[in-house]
Amino acid sequence: MLHKLKFPLIVVFLSLILFWISFVIVKYYTYSDLPEVCLSGIEKKATYSGVVNCKMRADNGYKIANIDICIDGKDLCITDLKRINSKKFDIPFVLDTTKFSDGKHMLEINSVDSSYKKNKCKDNFEFFIDNMPLQAAFLDSEYKVSQGRTIHAKLQLNKNIKNTKIKFLENCYDCYPESDYSNVYECFIPIDCEVSPGEYILTAHLQDSVNGEVKLSTKAAIENVVFPKQRGFTVAKGKLEEEKEISMSNKILEEALEKWLKDSPKKKLWTGSFEVPLDCKKIATPFGEIRMTTEKGRYLHKAVDLLNLPRCVIWSAQAGRVIIKDRFLMSGNTVAIDHGLGVFTLYYHLEDFADIEIGDLIKKGSPIGKMGMTGYANGYHLHWELRVNNVPVDPLQWTKDTF
Ligand SMILES: [Zn+2]
Repeated sequence: MLHKLKFPLIVVFLSLILFWISFVIVKYYTYSDLPEVCLSGIEKKATYSGVVNCKMRADNGYKIANIDICIDGKDLCITDLKRINSKKFDIPFVLDTTKFSDGKHMLEINSVDSSYKKNKCKDNFEFFIDNMPLQAAFLDSEYKVSQGRTIHAKLQLNKNIKNTKIKFLENCYDCYPESDYSNVYECFIPIDCEVSPGEYILTAHLQDSVNGEVKLSTKAAIENVVFPKQRGFTVAKGKLEEEKEISMSNKILEEALEKWLKDSPKKKLWTGSFEVPLDCKKIATPFGEIRMTTEKGRYLHKAVDLLNLPRCVIWSAQAGRVIIKDRFLMSGNTVAIDHGLGVFTLYYHLEDFADIEIGDLIKKGSPIGKMGMTGYANGYHLHWELRVNNVPVDPLQWTKDTF
C-alpha cells in the first residue's frame, strides 16, 4: 500500500522542482523592470557639511547586483555596495564632505540587477557642500539715529546664507543681500517719532544652510528731536461731510497697506536716492509737527507737506510698483508705491490720477497725478509720506542718504 503511494508523491515533488527551475530560468531571461533603489541622507538641492550618514535601500523585484555611487563622475568605491546580490537590503555608508570642495556637486547612482538583461537604473542628485565656518560683522560699530528716521543696518558676511535677522525694540527684520551675489546684507529699521530716546542694543542672528550660527550685537542710540508745534489747523466746515459721500474710510487704506506689506518684494526695486516728488517751492509742514485738531485730537504729522502751484505734476519718488490708487476720506485721492523690502511712498490729496493702474511697475519720475486738496486738506499741497514696514519715517532723509 505504502509503495503504491510513494511513486506518485515523488512524481509530484519532481514536477514541482522542475516547474520552479523553469520559472527561475524564464524570469532570469525575461525580467525587464528597472532596479528601484533609494538613497536617504542626501536630498536633492540641499546643502551639507562634515560627515553625512547615508543609506541605500531597496525592495526590488529582482536581485540587485551592484550599485555605483559617483560624485562629479568619480566613483566613491563603497565596497558594501559592490556585489550585493540581494532583492532587499538596507546598507548604511558615510559621505565625508570635507574631501570635496565647497559648492555645487552632482551625485550619481548607477544600479544594475543580476538578470540576463542586466537592467540598469541611473539617478542624479544635485547637492551643495558648505564646510566654511560662518563669519559676520556689523559694518558700523554703532548706530546713531534721530527719532522719526531710519537705521540702515549692514552686515558683512563671508558667504551667502539663508537666514539673517536683526532684532531691535521687539521687532524682527529680515536682511537681504544689498545686490545680487553680494555678501553684504542690509535691512532698514524705522524709528517711530514717538519711540523714547536712549541707548538700545541691536542684535543680529545669522544662520547658514548647514545650521552654522552667529549672534552679534551693537549699540544703537536714538536721539531726541524737538518736533515743532503747529498753532492752528482748520479744514473748512462741511468739507469732510462732502468727502464722506465719495470716499472710503482710511481704515480700508491701512488694511490694504498691511496686506501689501506681506507681498512686498524681497529685494529693492530702486537704485540710488529718492527724489522729492515735485518741484518743491516750500515745505508747508515739516516731518513730525505736533498738531491739535477738533477732528483728530493731538497727533504727530508723520509726513511732509510740500507746496507748489495747484495741479502741478507729482511724480514717483523712486521706481516701484503701484499698490494703491483710490479715494479715501482723510487722504483724498491717494497713490501708494511699493519700492520693495517693505518701503512704501504715499501721496495724498491728489486732484486726479495719471495714467497708472494698480500693479504697474513705474520708474522714478513717472507722473502719478496732480497736486490737489482732496480729503482732509485746507489748501493745495502734497502730503508725502514714506513708510518702512508701515512705520512712517522722515522721507527727506531718504532723498539725502542713499539707501
Ligand atoms: Zn500732511
